[in-house]
Amino acid sequence: MNFNQVTIIGFGLIGSSIARVLRRDCPAVRIVCGDSSLDVCKKALELGIANSASTDLAEAVQGSDLVVLAVPVGACGGVAEAMAPGLKQGAVVTDVGSVKQAVIASVKRHLPDYVDFVPAHPIAGTEHSGPEAGFAELFQGRWAIITPLPETPLNAIETVTALWESAGSNVEFMEPRRHDLVLAITSHLPHLIAYTIVGTASDLEDHLKADVIKFSASGFRDFTRIAASDPVMWRDIFINNQEAVLEIVQRFTEDLTGLQRAIRWGDGRVLQDMFARTRAIRRQIIDAKQADYRYPNQLSALVPQPEALRKASGS
Ligand code: NAP
Repeated sequence: MNFNQVTIIGFGLIGSSIARVLRRDCPAVRIVCGDSSLDVCKKALELGIANSASTDLAEAVQGSDLVVLAVPVGACGGVAEAMAPGLKQGAVVTDVGSVKQAVIASVKRHLPDYVDFVPAHPIAGTEHSGPEAGFAELFQGRWAIITPLPETPLNAIETVTALWESAGSNVEFMEPRRHDLVLAITSHLPHLIAYTIVGTASDLEDHLKADVIKFSASGFRDFTRIAASDPVMWRDIFINNQEAVLEIVQRFTEDLTGLQRAIRWGDGRVLQDMFARTRAIRRQIIDAKQADYRYPNQLSALVPQPEALRKASGS
């Protein structure tokens, strides 16, 4: 990759993972951390994954060939406005936001016409946040979706493609609108369901709640992992992908009502047909090699440890 200096704004899980990829593959590249939090800036230096750090975003982007926005999607517009005066002529600006249309609309209007914007989204993550949660292998074998704008020059798209390929990702190009609809079903709806299930459990009376935790391995546990995802990040995703999420929630609600009716009338054929179709989808995901966790060092954090289970059950 042909950069002398890269600024990453938002040095959390995704931003710090990109920094680790650059440290591993391009040790000569200068990495600048830009973050609203002084503690995060200090941590980035302490971890040795940034050469310098600043909470002044215009200062943080000065002299950088590539600027990566890795803040919650609702913060992207404000970050673009704050950093714009510092951007170097010919710089490439990219982002990692989980929603594309809203981020493009909020970022583009603040960028000077002497920089190129290449919106992107790595389809990789964990429920953890912050600079210490990142790791270079996060993107290995995952997809990175790039949603170029009609005016984006090819060389800028190639720059961002090279970044994601270096991280070990497979790159796919998509229309921003299509991205938002696809992600509404593959990512946003599952998170909404997980937040709802875990929220329902948290409203239960205390004696029931204790048993829910004790017997969580029967399915609930998997939802709690998803529902532990960052509240600010997910608030912003739902608000910024409102149209696609509401469309998918409507379809989901209709399908749920169909299953509810089948259960009420004891229609086992409807239930079995549906479950057979969904099992086939799981097989397709396994065949596409998208089923396994690629962060074995964090698996222990996902599986309740014996001590925690003992405490929860009061034994
Ligand atoms: P994260 O770990 O919470 O990191 C975000 C960082 O941005 C934090 O250090 C935060 O500081 C900082 N920040 C927030 N607002 C800021 C602002 N206005 N100016 C400068 N810095 C600011 O979040 P993440 O999981 O890396 O997510 C970052 C982006 O990646 C989001 O757009 C998300 O949609 C996208 N993404 C996430 C995942 C995932 O699974 N996590 C996957 C793909 C894409 P404070 O902590 O002080 O607020």
